[in-house]
Amino acid sequence: MCMPSPTVDQFIDAVKKTVLANKRWVPPHGRGSLYIRPLLMGTGRNLEVKPSSEYTFLVYASPVGNGLKGVLNLMVEDNVHRATPGGTGGIKAVTNYSPIYKPLTEAKAKGFSDLLYLDALTGSNIEECSGCNIFILKGNVISTPTTHGTILPGITRKTIMEIASDFGYQVEERAIPIKEVFDAEEVFCTGTAMVVKSVASITYQGKRIGYKLGAETLAQKLHATLTGIQTGLIEDKLGWTMLID
Ligand SMILES: *Cc1c(COP(=O)(O)O)cnc(C)c1O
Repeated sequence: MCMPSPTVDQFIDAVKKTVLANKRWVPPHGRGSLYIRPLLMGTGRNLEVKPSSEYTFLVYASPVGNGLKGVLNLMVEDNVHRATPGGTGGIKAVTNYSPIYKPLTEAKAKGFSDLLYLDALTGSNIEECSGCNIFILKGNVISTPTTHGTILPGITRKTIMEIASDFGYQVEERAIPIKEVFDAEEVFCTGTAMVVKSVASITYQGKRIGYKLGAETLAQKLHATLTGIQTGLIEDKLGWTMLID
C-alpha cells in the first residue's frame, strides 16, 4: 500500500494512551471488552493515482459486549471472490471489504450471518469469511486454510492454533476443499472481536449442513481459555498480555 508504518513503540504508546484516556468505557469484568481499532489512512492533498503525501494514524476505542451466545450461519459464495492472488487479501486493507458489501448484504437479508469465500483460482477450496478466519475439526485434527496472500493471517487464528496444539490437537494449515467441510464435526471462526464463534451451519449450492454446538464444543473450550488469558483468570505463559497503568 506504500504507507509508512508507525514504529512498534509508537503503535503501543498510542494504544496505551487511548485505553487510559477511555478507561471509564472499559466494561465491568465478564460484561464485554474495550475494542481497539488502530487505523492508518492517507490524508494528503493528492488527486493523482499515487500514494498519499501524508498519513494519519488513529486509534478507535469502543466498548463491546461479549457475543458469547451468537453462532454463525454461513453461506458459501461461489460468484464473488474476496481476494485474488497478487492482490491485497493478505493485509487488513479497506480494499478487501467494499467489493463484498453487495453479496454480504444480500446474504444477510436471507438470514445468513456471513459469507464463506472460495479461492479465486479453482473455486474449490475454502478461504475465510468477510472478517474472520475459519477452522474445521474432525477427530483429533484441526485444520485451517494456509495463508498465501489471499487470506488475512489473523492474530486470533495464530493464537487459537497455539492453544489447540497445547490441548493436544493436531493442527494443520493446508488447502481445504469445500467438499471436506461437509464431513467436519465442528466448524468455528476466529477474529479479535468475536474471539471464537461456533458455526451452526454452512449452506452451499442450496444444501445446508449443521454442526455440533454448545457447551461440549472445542470452540467453547478455546473461547474460555483465550478470554481467561485476556482477563487474567488463566496464567499467561506466553507473554500475550500487557499491563496498562
Ligand atoms: C480482521 C480479519 C480477520 C481476523 O483477524 P484478527 O487479527 O484475528 O482479528 C480475518 N479475516 C479478515 C478478512 C479480517 O478482516
